[in-house]
Formats: sequence, C-alpha cells, structure tokens
Amino acid sequence: MHKAKYCIVTCIDFRLQKAYSNFIESRQMLSTCDVISLAGCSRDLVKPIENWHKDALLRQIELSVKLHNPDTLILLDHQDCGGYAQDSTIAQGLTVDQDRLAHSEWGKIAKAALLEKFPGKSVQVYYFQLDGKVEEL
Ligand SMILES: [Zn+2]
Repeated sequence: MHKAKYCIVTCIDFRLQKAYSNFIESRQMLSTCDVISLAGCSRDLVKPIENWHKDALLRQIELSVKLHNPDTLILLDHQDCGGYAQDSTIAQGLTVDQDRLAHSEWGKIAKAALLEKFPGKSVQVYYFQLDGKVEEL
C-alpha cells in the first residue's frame, strides 16, 4: 500500500486555489495527501440536496482510506461558498463573522460524521477566508 498522511477535501472554487496550495505546501503536506475536490467541500456530508451526494463524497473518502490509509481527514471549507449557498444553507453576502459562525456549526456536524464513519482517524476542519486567512474550526 502507498501510505498517505492526509486525505484533504476542498471546494472546487478557483478563488481558493492559491490559499489551498499555500496551506498544503506550508504544512509539509505536499505529496503526502490525497485531495478530493467538490463544490461545497463538507456540504454534501452534512446537508446533501440528494442523498446520493453524501454517498458520492463518502465513497471518495472511503477509497482514500482503503487505498492510502491516511491518518488524518481534513475539510477545507471557505467563506462565501456557492456550494453551501445553493439553497441558502449558508447564504451569500454574509459578513465574515456571520459566515465563519455558520461554517463552524456545520463543520462540527461534518467532523462528528467523519469521526463516526472513520473511527481511529483524526479529523480537522478549517475555515478559509477569501483573503487567504485560515483558522481551524
Ligand atoms: Zn465553495
């Protein structure tokens, strides 16, 4: 087996590519992580519009775990996410504080879901502002 240290889930949003790259490189995660990218990042895990959306994301994480056995699962949610705004689960146009608070609530649910589904794995959830500022939720 090819062992990875991390399985990282990101949003597809191009506005975050540089911040995501900086995060991965600055934390020495480059070439040690699987990366799954989908619109909304954790959104399909916590509030899928269709049930299969959740299954599709979990299948990708399960494959990462099966193929590369990462120690840590990491979700990189972000400010002003269109995936979360599809049905105004987190509306667009909020202040950063309002947006971060909403992501914090959903992030807790996402973290609990991953810990339950993948016992023994460490789970981390981060919030990225559009200006590149990052904090763990
Ligand atoms: Zn997004």
